[in-house]
Amino acid sequence: MRNPASPGNPLSSQKKNGPEKKLPEGFFGSPWQLLLQVLVALLLVWLWQESVQRTTVTTIPYSAFLDKLAKKEIVECTITPEEIQGKMVAPAPAKKEGETKKAETTALFRTVRVEDPNLVAQLQSAHTTYSSVRPSLLSQLIFSWILPIGIFFLIWVGLSRWMTRGAGYSLLNVGKSRARLVAEEGTGVSFEDVAGCQEAKYELQEVVDFLKSPDRYRALGAKIPKGVLLIGPPGTGKTLLARAVAGEAHVAFFSLSGSEFVEMFVGVGASRVRDLFAQAKGRAPCIIFIDELDAIGRQRGVRIAMGHDEQEQTLNQLLVEMDGFDPNEGIILLAATNRPDILDRALMRPGRFDRHVLVDLPDAQGREAILKVHARGKPLASDANLQDIAHATAGMSGADLANLMNEAALLAARRKAHLVEQADLLEALEKVVAGPERRSLQLAEEEKRRVAYHEVGHALVAAATPGADPVRKVSIIPRGRGALGYTLQLPPAQQYLFTRTQLLAKIRCAMGGRAAEEIIFGEVSTGAENDLEVGTTLARQMVCLYGMSESVGLAHLIPSRPGLTEVPGVDGHAEYSGETARLVDLEVQRILEKAYGDAKAILQKERKTLEEVTAELLKKETLDAAAFLALLPESAKQPLAAPQ
Ligand code: ADP
Ligand code: ZN
Ligand code: MG
Repeated sequence: MRNPASPGNPLSSQKKNGPEKKLPEGFFGSPWQLLLQVLVALLLVWLWQESVQRTTVTTIPYSAFLDKLAKKEIVECTITPEEIQGKMVAPAPAKKEGETKKAETTALFRTVRVEDPNLVAQLQSAHTTYSSVRPSLLSQLIFSWILPIGIFFLIWVGLSRWMTRGAGYSLLNVGKSRARLVAEEGTGVSFEDVAGCQEAKYELQEVVDFLKSPDRYRALGAKIPKGVLLIGPPGTGKTLLARAVAGEAHVAFFSLSGSEFVEMFVGVGASRVRDLFAQAKGRAPCIIFIDELDAIGRQRGVRIAMGHDEQEQTLNQLLVEMDGFDPNEGIILLAATNRPDILDRALMRPGRFDRHVLVDLPDAQGREAILKVHARGKPLASDANLQDIAHATAGMSGADLANLMNEAALLAARRKAHLVEQADLLEALEKVVAGPERRSLQLAEEEKRRVAYHEVGHALVAAATPGADPVRKVSIIPRGRGALGYTLQLPPAQQYLFTRTQLLAKIRCAMGGRAAEEIIFGEVSTGAENDLEVGTTLARQMVCLYGMSESVGLAHLIPSRPGLTEVPGVDGHAEYSGETARLVDLEVQRILEKAYGDAKAILQKERKTLEEVTAELLKKETLDAAAFLALLPESAKQPLAAPQ
C-alpha cells in the first residue's frame, strides 16, 4: 500500500553524472573590483615608497653632489645606471641652545645621474667609498616583464569571467577539452573487479592484448576495431569495464561524458572533440572513452528543442576524427550507451563503432559473482549465503548489488558487529527494493488495520494464484517514500519471458489489496493507487504490445507517447484508429475488472484466513515467507482458478 501523497517508485534508481564543475567565483567576482584593488595597492606602495624616501632621503641635484664630492662631504655612495645613492655629511641643522653639537651626522641622499665620464676620477680623488650595483637579472625580469604581464593577465581573466558569467564558464576555457587524464599506469581497475559479464570481458580482452603488444597484430596485418561500443542498461558496469580495459592494458585513459561535449555555444563541442583526439594522439597507446554516447550521437535530423546544431556539429566532428585516425597508432575508442536505438546510423558504420559489446543485466550466477566482488574487504559471517541473495535479486544491476552489499555492511556496523550476517544482507535487500524502514512514521490504529488487511490481501491472492511470484515477506512497517506497508514477491529464478498466465497473475495480485479493503471495510481508500497503476500498465502492455487480447488481436500498437517522437515515422500520433483505441480501452478495462473480481472471490472464500493472518501481522508487524505460509490452511493454498 502506498501513500499517494508521495509518488515515485523506490525501485527506480537514477544515476547521473555529478553536476558540472563550477569554477570558483568570488575572487574574480567583478573585474572592476579587481582592477580597483590592484590600482589601490599600487598607489599605496608608491605613496609609501615616496613618503619614506621623502622623509629620510634628500634628493639633491647632481651639481650639488659634485660640489659635496669636491668638499669631501660624500661618505659613501652606490652607483646604479639611473641614480647615485649614499651617505653624505649632513648639512648642519639650525642649532638650538643647550643642544650638544655632534661631531659629524650623516644623511642619506640620492641624485639622478648625469652622463659624466669624470665621475670615477672625482670619486677616487675624494677618497669616497663607492660601489656599483647591477640590478639583478631576476628583479629586472620581474619588474619589467612578469609583473606587467601578470597584471594584464589578471585584468583579462577578470574581464572575461565577468563577461561570460551568465554562460557559466570562462572564455579562456572555451573549446578546451575537459578530458580527465588518469595516471599512466591506467585506472587501477582490473577485469577482476568486474563480474558477471564474461562475454563482454572476453571481447574486450582482445583490445587489451592489442594495446599491450600492438606489434603482434601489425605483423599479421590484423586490423583492430577502431571503436567499441558498450551497450547495456544503466548500472551494469559499462563505465567500470572501460576503466578495467585501461587498467589491464596499463595505458592512459581519457574519459569524457557525452553531455560534457554539448555546450551552449555552437562549435564548442566540436572543438572539444578535436582537442581530445589531439591530446590522445600525444599519449598513444591509450583509450578514449566517451560515456553516455547518446548525448552526442543522437540521430541527426531529429529535432529536439535546443542545442540541435551544436549536437550535430559535435557528432560530425566526432565522425571526422574517427575517420582520421588509424587504430594501429594505438588509440582505441570506447563508448557506452544505454540507448543504442537512438544513435545515429553513421556512428555504427563499419570503421566506426562497428564492434558492439552487450553488457546485460547479470543472471543469478553473475549476480553471485558481483556480490562476491563487492564482498571483498567485508568479513562475512558463516551464515551469510550470497547464492541465496543472488537468487532473490533477479533484475538487479551490478550497481544495485554493489549498493546492497554496502548497505549490509552499514547495517552490520550499526549493530556494532564484526561480521556481516545473512540477516543484514536480507535487510539490505529489502532496503534496496523498498527503501529504508520508517519506523518513526506513526499510523493511527485504524489506518494501520487498513494497511494490514490490504497487504494480507495481496499475499493471500498471491498464495492462491498459479503463476504468481511466491510471497517472501509481508510487512506493515512503512518504508521509503510513501510505502505504508508492502508485500514482497520475488520470482524463484531469473525470468526473461512472461506468459499470459503470469502477467494476469501479477495483475490479480495487484488487485488483492483493494479487494481486501472493500471486503473488510466496505469502502476503498487511496492506498491502492500504485497497485492500480501497476495493473493498468501491465494490462495495456498485454493488449497493445504482446497481442494477448483476442478482441484487439495481434497488432503491435504503439500508443502516442511524447517521449517516442524521436522514433522516425511516429510523430506524436498513435498509429491506430480511434476505433482501435476504444477497443484497447475496453479490453484493458475488462482485464482489470476480471482480475479484481477474481481477487475478491479468493478473499471472500478465505475471509477467515484473511482475518487471522492480519491479526498476526498487526502483532508482529512483519511476516516472512515461512511464518506466512505456516498460517495458511490448506484451502488457502489451493488455486481458485488460473487467471484467464
Ligand atoms: P554503467 O556505466 O553501466 O551505468 P557503472 O560502470 O557506472 O555502470 O557501474 C556503477 C557501479 O556498479 C560500479 O562502480 C561498480 O561498483 C558496480 N558494478 C556494476 N556492474 C558491475 C559488475 N559487473 N561487476 C562489479 N561491479 C559492478
Ligand atoms: Zn497494495
Ligand atoms: Mg556509466
